[in-house]
Amino acid sequence: MEFNEEQVAQFLSAVKFSAHKHRNQRRKGAEGSPYINHPIQVADLLWHVGQVRDMETLVAAILHDTIEDTETTPQEIEERFGQRVLALVQECSDDKSLEKAERKRLQIVNAPHKSVAAKHIKLADKINNVQDIVSHPPAHWNLQRRLDYLDWATQVVNGLRDANEPLAHCFDESVREARQKLAPETA
Ligand code: ZN
Repeated sequence: MEFNEEQVAQFLSAVKFSAHKHRNQRRKGAEGSPYINHPIQVADLLWHVGQVRDMETLVAAILHDTIEDTETTPQEIEERFGQRVLALVQECSDDKSLEKAERKRLQIVNAPHKSVAAKHIKLADKINNVQDIVSHPPAHWNLQRRLDYLDWATQVVNGLRDANEPLAHCFDESVREARQKLAPETA
């Protein structure tokens, strides 16, 4: 597998662009790590666990929360990174005009109908979120809320898991470890 200079340059541009867009955001965890750590870890999971070698998927992974969580416009993404990357980012973005409960319900309903590349990104996204809930839990999330998140994420992943066996397996292991750490008596 070899990438040309243009592809490497585009990946680095995406990292820089995403870091800038997320520059004032922190992860929900109590220690408030820089938000950009999350999309970088999602891309890293795609590469190292999922063996994903499609550069546009990796670029879209780096950008996957920019439209949903920053003021980034679809036009910006399309101009810099092209139409397919934009389509992937949009597939991974919730419609923020909807209520949170409805957005969460739609993630479950829509997951099976995503493209394979979007399924890859969403799988890695859920893995990293589950891992963060254990290693950097949000201070205001009680045990039940953390367990509810694991149940919801599992329902979403059930619509994605056919796309990539190693990522699906990694998700299952992450949930199993999370349940053991959160509530050893019920795991
Ligand atoms: Zn994300």
